[in-house]
Amino acid sequence: MICNKFLGDLLLVDSFGRTIDYMRISVTQRCNFRCLYCMPNIPMDIGSEEDDVPLEGVLNFIKVAINEGVKKIRITGGEPLLRKGIVDFIAQIYQLSPSIDIALTTNAYLLAPLAKSLKEAGLKRINISLDSLKKEKIQCISKRDGLEKILQGIESAKKEGFLIKLNMVPLKTINEDEVIDILEYGINLGIGVRFIEFMENMHARSGIDGLRAKEILEKIEKKYSFKLLQKDVFGPATLFEIMQNQESYIFGIIAPHNDDFCKTCNRIRLSSEGKLIPCLYHENAIDIKEAMLYGDSQEILKRLKLCVEKKPEKNDWNENQTSMRAFYKTGG
Ligand code: SAM
Ligand code: SF4
Repeated sequence: MICNKFLGDLLLVDSFGRTIDYMRISVTQRCNFRCLYCMPNIPMDIGSEEDDVPLEGVLNFIKVAINEGVKKIRITGGEPLLRKGIVDFIAQIYQLSPSIDIALTTNAYLLAPLAKSLKEAGLKRINISLDSLKKEKIQCISKRDGLEKILQGIESAKKEGFLIKLNMVPLKTINEDEVIDILEYGINLGIGVRFIEFMENMHARSGIDGLRAKEILEKIEKKYSFKLLQKDVFGPATLFEIMQNQESYIFGIIAPHNDDFCKTCNRIRLSSEGKLIPCLYHENAIDIKEAMLYGDSQEILKRLKLCVEKKPEKNDWNENQTSMRAFYKTGG
């Protein structure tokens, strides 16, 4: 087990005074879905299993990161549940430091049979992508007939007592008519929903257009009154509260087109090929694969610090200059 540095020790602080204590770790680029907003039907550069850094190497990185004050780790992808050994990997992170907040982002297609062992391994939170409650729409968006398995995954996660959030990317003419349905699905199950604005990128199918925060809120206010709360302390969402029969329900919107997340950004990313990425929308990346493979803690630390040092003040993204970064490569 690792003990974090003592309070007062210099942890990972970037050039703009932001403390970096959150790592998003992509364990594979591969995916069993082909979501319209994320990847082409036939991704050319998706890599194979051999391109994924062995999980023992990733653990070598995580040991150093925890020692430098990292408190939260999100496992993502591609589809992380496709990665062989993922449950043991999570158990090993937990054993390194039981106080680490371990979270997973998944499309839930493979979740139901794994939910119990993931819980036993020490996983605490799961974010599940749910873009529709209609079988044909899920097929249209993800290119997989997956609704039944996704819903089973959500039920199993709920049964295991995970803290769950649902992510929906509302797309014009495709699933925009289901904003209320997904919200109500969340209300009925007592699960928070995050609506995410579609972020234009080179890998998404052409002709796709997402709803903006304002348009999402207009749909919701036709049926529910809500009040603005504050920024989600755990992420980039803006939170809203619906009061119903004296019960409070909170939903969130992630709106990169308007919001400035950068000021409070506390994260860096590790790709499945072993690249440290200081910012999702910046072309900088630092290769750390060899150091992870050899378990060279000094070199890992050096590169981790370099990555933090290179973290830009603001991201480079704007909707017209479509980003080269693939969500399935860096983990959304
Ligand atoms: N496969 C898992 C999943 O879908 O939950 C994890 C990886 S996926 C890249 C992580 C998140 O990124 C998902 O919630 C997905 O909806 C979001 N995402 C992917 N492409 C996006 C885009 N172009 N704009 C906004 N969100 C996107
Ligand atoms: Fe796969 Fe997630 Fe991308 Fe959909 S959003 S294609 S499930 S990585």
